[in-house]
Amino acid sequence: MSDALSVALVGIGKIATDQHVPAIAASPDWQLAATVSRNGAVQGVDAYRDMETMLASCPQIEVVSLCLPPVPRFGYAAAALRAGRHVMLEKPPGATLAEVHTLMAMAEASGVSLYATWHSRMAKGVAAAKAWLAGKPVTRAHITWRESVRKWHPGQDWVFEPGGMGVFDPGINALSILTEVLPMPVHLQSAELAFPENRATPIAARLAFSGNVSAEFDWREEGRDIWDIEIETTEGTLALRHGGNALEIDGVSQGEAPGLEGEYPALYARMAELVRNGESEVDLAPMIHVADAMTLGRRITVEPFEF
Ligand code: NAP
Repeated sequence: MSDALSVALVGIGKIATDQHVPAIAASPDWQLAATVSRNGAVQGVDAYRDMETMLASCPQIEVVSLCLPPVPRFGYAAAALRAGRHVMLEKPPGATLAEVHTLMAMAEASGVSLYATWHSRMAKGVAAAKAWLAGKPVTRAHITWRESVRKWHPGQDWVFEPGGMGVFDPGINALSILTEVLPMPVHLQSAELAFPENRATPIAARLAFSGNVSAEFDWREEGRDIWDIEIETTEGTLALRHGGNALEIDGVSQGEAPGLEGEYPALYARMAELVRNGESEVDLAPMIHVADAMTLGRRITVEPFEF
């Protein structure tokens, strides 16, 4: 008999289809037992249109993995936790910090695992970057995260609605790497946020942190994607490129190649471990920086944006 964990995938859209379904299918640890989505489905898998029906009909499903945009996610997560299921959250883990704290308390009260995933932390160069930086004095760090919102979020208006986070939707991936690899904590000191005049979230942002750390996020890049983090120390310079998948030290490639293919399998492997060990993992550090930028940032208005 298989001891694979039975999972329901909720919100069958872009990331569920691109990454979650193949990662689950490729793992002997997991079995995709149901989906919950108002419109989407996965061929050959029991499809439910609402969460309460799935939870009532499928008591054998131990884990619920939520791939919805952040704003609708809380209600689904709370329902799953109330029903005693382990919960895995796409990034960012919620629309607000307070709602994630509520989910943490619910998971603890129910004795189930809650995992706030950060897929970019599973990129190929991140663990080695963290190990190399450990104990080294950092003198400067800079993030450049530039991509096309038209390419990566075609027609997804939710990213420009309140709670959609705008350019922080990809930018928080960079912050998830930064907060994982830096050997010291940093805090935001100032920010400039560029809001299209017809939108409720920023399309670009510049951030300045303590410790001579800075970031530039821009969704108006129509050339190649640039997902780079450069970190200077008194003992040399490290660069993570391709979203954390390629590591360079003093300009010399350490051999990793571009490509996101290992990130989601690693998230599911970690979730299996958390469930089996009866643990939770919720690190809100990346989201705290975004919330601080929204609190402290100077808002400028830029030209309207249409997909
Ligand atoms: P998406 O395709 O726009 O949405 C996923 C699905 O969620 C939709 O297909 C929809 O399915 C359901 N949904 C949307 N709005 C809803 C609402 N108000 N109430 C209930 N269900 C709703 O989004 P995505 O690109 O997959 O992103 C989802 C999450 O994954 C985000 O937090 C994002 O940051 C993260 N993520 C995305 C990417 C990427 O490349 N897109 C990469 C990494 C992580 P139904 O209509 O069938 O209900």
